[in-house]
Amino acid sequence: MSIKPVRTRFAPSPTGRMHIGNARSALYPFLLARHLGGTFILRIEDTDQKRFELGAEQELIDGLHWLGLNYDEGPDIGGPHEPYRQTERRAIYHEHAWKLVELDKAFPCFCTSERLGTVRQEQLKNKQNPRYDGLCRTLDSDEARRRVNDGEKYVIRFKMPKEGSITTADILRGSITTENSALDDTVLLKSDGLPTYHLGAMVDDHEMQITHVIRGSEWLPSMPLHIHVIRAFGWDEPVFAHLSVFLKPNGKGKMSKRDRADDMKDGHSIFLGDMKELGYIPEGVLNWIALMGWGVAEDDVMTMNQMIERFSIDSLTPSPAAINFQKLDHFNATHIRLLTTDDLAARIKPYFTREGLNVDEEVLLKVVPLLRERLVTLDDCLSFGSFFFKDNVTPAPEDLIAKGLDAVQSAQVAQRAYEILSAQPTISHERCEPPLRAYVEESGLNVNQVFGILRVAVTGQKVSPPLFESMEIIGREKCLLRIKNAIEVLKKM
Ligand code: GLU
Repeated sequence: MSIKPVRTRFAPSPTGRMHIGNARSALYPFLLARHLGGTFILRIEDTDQKRFELGAEQELIDGLHWLGLNYDEGPDIGGPHEPYRQTERRAIYHEHAWKLVELDKAFPCFCTSERLGTVRQEQLKNKQNPRYDGLCRTLDSDEARRRVNDGEKYVIRFKMPKEGSITTADILRGSITTENSALDDTVLLKSDGLPTYHLGAMVDDHEMQITHVIRGSEWLPSMPLHIHVIRAFGWDEPVFAHLSVFLKPNGKGKMSKRDRADDMKDGHSIFLGDMKELGYIPEGVLNWIALMGWGVAEDDVMTMNQMIERFSIDSLTPSPAAINFQKLDHFNATHIRLLTTDDLAARIKPYFTREGLNVDEEVLLKVVPLLRERLVTLDDCLSFGSFFFKDNVTPAPEDLIAKGLDAVQSAQVAQRAYEILSAQPTISHERCEPPLRAYVEESGLNVNQVFGILRVAVTGQKVSPPLFESMEIIGREKCLLRIKNAIEVLKKM
């Protein structure tokens, strides 16, 4: 028995923005291909001209690259089964649809939409399931050919067997048997000459030698038709896995793109482009998405290599996956902590420069270890660390007043701290902490009062990375200047 090389694909329709559902539909086939040394393909299913959105394909490509889900064949890089965009494969579908007609497995249908509408109304009135009534099924084949050649508008429908049943298998759900009588003569080729998904995807998966089809569970009900089509051609069936649905963050109902506004309000989004803007890193996003439908422990922290190593298609799970943004935050923060100093420095630098700050590389490399533990998203570097790159800080005057003290007393504390620090040739943790602690002792104040005033004076904020390490990076001159400014502010209050 020959074992076929594994080939998987991500086959999105460019009909909107790339969201976490797309990302997951790309991630699992990617992991499977990489785990088994196979090939991962990007195919653009753009046959629905009404829903087509300009720019959506590029957004998908950018999203895949951002996540590191690099494909081996695709519309922008080519490959042995070009083209990888369905609208450029018209002739292939046309030929295949007519091949099925020749095999008596499909038929051209000339019914107008008015006629189909009337039939549907009638069926609904009689409490029947709406379906094609079979009028063109029995047309003489020469007659049908003649009408097509005369330029009459037509579609090609699958000739669903009236009798018998079909058994289909999903690797996550087992096999399901469906009576053929419950299935319709579904349209395979539309009147615009483009295929429906049912023909396009089956033809392409065969032609591109796809061995494993991993796709959304919305396709599960069409699976009997798909297997009928594949068998009508006499092709091998790939392994099918239908992924679980996503539930809204509150657990109530299926996630839809419309829920976006609420998420954005609290700094979250289901769209990849937004997530990047919101300061999420691909490592965190991937880890989070990986666990929504893959039966590994929910808190497993995995790098891409670990995911590739551990992945197997039968460990996917069909149970619905709740979207939990708190978990995303957890994974993002965790993966930020795993980044090297150089890497994290390169990723946060643009946030500072975008704010117009002048970022000294050497300073940045010292700042990163102080910030690393505090970042949930990359943009948090601004609220925690902008003061490192500013010439001056302008603390809110009331923040300079320590709890239990007034402005005059706070100014005295700042003045004393200034004297202690200016007596030191350089500012370092070892040099400055002991004399300041001694001052705390002798003054009868508490540490929070003294260090709090100092923190606000030097960093401009009440919450900051460790005070002495921060002061060391800011440097003696700047620290003293900032404390002096604070004393002035307090005196004026
Ligand atoms: N174009 C289909 C979609 O976006 C792809 C489904 C599949 O992976 O076969 O839903």
